[in-house]
Amino acid sequence: MQILFDRIRKDGIVKSGNVLKVDRFLNHQMDIELFREIGKEFKRRFSDVEINKILTIEASGIGIACVTAEFFHVPVVFAKKTKTKNIAGEVYTTKVESFTHGTVYDIIVSKEFLGKGDKVLVIDDFLANGKALDGLTTLIRDSGAELVGAGIVIEKGFQEGGRRIREKGIRLESLAIVDSMDEKTGEITFKNE
Ligand code: 5GP
Repeated sequence: MQILFDRIRKDGIVKSGNVLKVDRFLNHQMDIELFREIGKEFKRRFSDVEINKILTIEASGIGIACVTAEFFHVPVVFAKKTKTKNIAGEVYTTKVESFTHGTVYDIIVSKEFLGKGDKVLVIDDFLANGKALDGLTTLIRDSGAELVGAGIVIEKGFQEGGRRIREKGIRLESLAIVDSMDEKTGEITFKNE
């Protein structure tokens, strides 16, 4: 997706610790015109499969998932991050290690909104070590729903998540796969450009 590569180069900021800041168009301020192109591209890539639900994780996945859902005509469910202990049996829950914060948190989805018969597309903004995706995959498995695939806007190809997820046999479509990024020069290269 050339407009995405161009935009990441123009507005992305390479930070220390392998963090790419894209607050100007994806994670804080959101460019909805770009989101529409992203949603359209996810629809094109997953047009051969049946999907009846999109699952994402709060907060930054929600905007992309919602715009994408307009092309699939399906509802969006987002996993909530919570610190609440001893949650009653009304939810599926698992732990996720945060790449950006280095902490562990719980994510939950109500049993009302995910279950047997659901064919789920996971959408998220970033794939780094794959912990967020692992967590969502666990919730889907526990609910008896089917994971059809995962659509990621930016995969950092030099981190282990993508390889691990693909090795599990999960269909993973990443729109921009960063091959390298240089904190000093700001240069970013992509695997799939
Ligand atoms: P993972 O669980 O794959 O290690 O990390 C995925 C999550 O961490 C994403 O949902 C995203 O919010 C955050 N994340 C990981 N790497 C980056 C990054 O380079 N930049 C930003 N802005 N968020 C990231």
